Amino acid sequence: VEKTNENAAGESAKIRGALKARLEMEQMLGIESLPTKLPPKRTGERKAPFAARQTANAPIPSPFKPAPYAASKPSPAAKKPAAPVRTGNTVIGAPPELSDELKTLREKVETCRKCPLGGTRKNAVFGEGNSKAGLMFVGEAPGYHEDVQGRPFVGPAGMLLTKIIEAIKLERKDVFIANILKCRPPENRTPQPDEVAACRGHLEAQIDLIKPKIICALGGPAAKTLLNKPNEGITKMRGTWHEYKGIPVMPTFHPAYLLRNPADKKYCWEDMQNVRDRLKGVENQK
Ligand code: SF4
Repeated sequence: VEKTNENAAGESAKIRGALKARLEMEQMLGIESLPTKLPPKRTGERKAPFAARQTANAPIPSPFKPAPYAASKPSPAAKKPAAPVRTGNTVIGAPPELSDELKTLREKVETCRKCPLGGTRKNAVFGEGNSKAGLMFVGEAPGYHEDVQGRPFVGPAGMLLTKIIEAIKLERKDVFIANILKCRPPENRTPQPDEVAACRGHLEAQIDLIKPKIICALGGPAAKTLLNKPNEGITKMRGTWHEYKGIPVMPTFHPAYLLRNPADKKYCWEDMQNVRDRLKGVENQK
């Protein structure tokens, strides 16, 4: 009887552990309560993956007027302080002020014309956050919302990234968020190798100034570029630690991919728990 009780207690601890992990993941996804009734059966057709992607990336109404395009002047958004961005119940607050060195670098980016994207962007998206962040996120390139606002990760994918950051008990103002490319490729097309090569120096300079303890690469293009591994896929790279100039790098899925493939959010959550624990370890060593 004693043995049976022990086994039952072990099983129950296992279930509690699994449930806790599951609830943490749900919280990361922004789910704050559980349904008490089953949802009604859907009768409509399932959306094809392409249509789903279009929905995820579709422009959402913005309370802010897009800045007018100016081909040969600094980005319009650079001239005014960044305002909070609101989508539904989620608000992305105004970013913290940058250090003087980062401001100088931002001015360079805002007037950069090293590749054709400098002529098609509305705003350069330098990146934002804590100038001395321990954790830096690096994505691929600005999209529609980012181009309009001049801020990184402020569309639907940005809302999910914000929740991911909050799930590891940090806030956007604690981390730094940037992209490989600082200007939006038209129609969100894949960045060309010459554009990535032209822009890489800006990111490297950012990393040199911020000196993060950990970098999280969001999506395959960011991880491949940062780690110089053009032939490796994100599925293979994620979940293990890599290095950029001695800084530990954790690649994980891009939030825009997770919006289209929610079943893979659990892998992102595993990666973020790794990031959280390693960051804690680094901070405890101080
Ligand atoms: S994408 Fe980068 S290299 Fe090209 S114009 Fe913009 S800032 Fe310059």
